[in-house]
Amino acid sequence: MAKSSDVVVMGGGVVGCAAAYYLAGEGLSVTVIERDSVASHASGFAYGGLTPVMGVFIDDPLVPLSRYADELHAELAETLPADTGVDTEYRDKPSLTLATSVDEIPEIKMLYDWLAKNHSADVDWLEGNELLSEEPRINPEIPAGMYTDLSHEVEPYKFTLALATGAEQRGVEFVNAEVTGFRFGGDGGIEGVDTTGESIDTEDVVVAIGPWSAVAGEWAGVKIPISPLKGQILRLAAPGEPLAISMSWKGNYATTKPDRLIWAGTTEEEAGFDESLTTDGRNQIMESLVCVLPYLADARLSRQTACLRPVAPDGLPILGAVGGIPGLWIATGTGRKGILLGPGMGHVISDLIVGKAPSIDVWPLSLDRFSE
Ligand SMILES: Cc1cc2nc3c(=O)[nH]c(=O)nc-3n(C[C@H](O)[C@H](O)[C@H](O)COP(=O)(O)OP(=O)(O)OC[C@H]3O[C@@H](n4cnc5c(N)ncnc54)[C@H](O)[C@@H]3O)c2cc1C
Repeated sequence: MAKSSDVVVMGGGVVGCAAAYYLAGEGLSVTVIERDSVASHASGFAYGGLTPVMGVFIDDPLVPLSRYADELHAELAETLPADTGVDTEYRDKPSLTLATSVDEIPEIKMLYDWLAKNHSADVDWLEGNELLSEEPRINPEIPAGMYTDLSHEVEPYKFTLALATGAEQRGVEFVNAEVTGFRFGGDGGIEGVDTTGESIDTEDVVVAIGPWSAVAGEWAGVKIPISPLKGQILRLAAPGEPLAISMSWKGNYATTKPDRLIWAGTTEEEAGFDESLTTDGRNQIMESLVCVLPYLADARLSRQTACLRPVAPDGLPILGAVGGIPGLWIATGTGRKGILLGPGMGHVISDLIVGKAPSIDVWPLSLDRFSE
C-alpha cells in the first residue's frame, strides 16, 4: 500500500519548511520532500536581512505580505529557539539606505517621505557629517542616506533549520527524494506524487521548490513563469570594530554578522541554474563595497557563496491555487526577499489549505494574474 499524507510539501527551503510548520500546527499530517537537504540552496546562503519596507514599491501588493511576514518573524523569534534549541540569530538591525550619487537621492527621498509619514519615529534623512556619525568609515563623498530602525536580521540557514526542526516536532516527516510528477484523480484533482523513492498518496501538494518551480507547471499543464536569478555573497574578515548597522546601496549591501565577518553582496546574474562561484562576481562585489567602505579594500576573503532567487516576470511572489486544479498549491517567486517572506507565504498557504481566510489579500499574488 502506498504511503499517504494529508499534505505533501515539495522543497525544504524556507518557504516549504514554513508551510509544513504551520500546516502541522493545524493538525494535518505533512510530508516534506527535499531532493538535496534542508536549506541547501538560497534559503541557506542568503544575506538574512529582514527589511519589510525596503525594495518594495509604495502601495504594491508586497507591502501587506512583507508586514505580515515581519510580524510572524517577531513571534517565531520567541518560539522557535525556545522550542527547538536552534538560535536563529534574530535581532533588530538598523539600516542605512545610501545614495552613492546625487542622482540616486530622489528615489530614496521618496521612500523616506512615505516612511516618515507612516513611521515617523523610525526614520531619518542624513547628509554629510550626520551620516558619518552613524558610521565614520563610510566614504565621505557619499552625499546622503536614509536611516531606519524597522529592519531585523536572521542567520538564514539556522532560521530555516529551526523551522524544519519545529515542523518535525509537530510530526512532519522529511523525506530525502526528488518529486518527479503528480498523479491526478478522475476529477482532475491531485491524488498523489511520484518521487525517486516511494509514491505518496495525498490530496494536497504545495509547490515550494523555488527557482525550479516551472517543472511542476509542466506536470500539471499550467505555465508557472518562474526563473532563477543568481546572486553571490562574500564573507570577509576585516580590521576594526564590527559594523553596527546594515548598509545598502544600488542593490548591494554589507554588515557585520554575529560570526564577526562582514557579509557583503550581491550580484544579479542570469546564468540559468548555475550556482558556481565566479571571480567576476567576487570582483564586482568588492569594487562596489570599497566605493562605500574604502577601509575594506584589504579585507580578507573568508568565504564566497552563490545561490538562486526564484523570480516571476513582475517581481512579485506567486501564492495560492494552481490553475483550478483541486489540491495543487504554489508558494514561490520570493526573489530577493524570501527569508523575510517565508513565514508569511507558509502561513497563507496553510490557511488556504485548511479553508481559513488568510490575514492578507492574496488575490494580487495569485498565479492567475499571468493568465490572458
Ligand atoms: C545572494 C542572495 C541573497 C539573499 N538575501 C536575502 C535577504 O537578505 N533577505 C531575504 O529575505 N531574502 C534574501 N534572498 C532571497 C531568499 O534567499 C530566497 O527568496 C528564498 O531562500 C527562496 O526560498 P525557497 O524555499 O522558495 O527556495 P529554495 O531555498 O531554493 O528551496 C527550494 C528547495 O526545493 C528543492 N527542490 C527543487 N526541486 C525539487 C524536486 N523536484 N523535488 C524535491 N525537492 C526539490 C531544492 O533542492 C531546494 O532545497 C537572497 C537570495 C540570494 C540569492
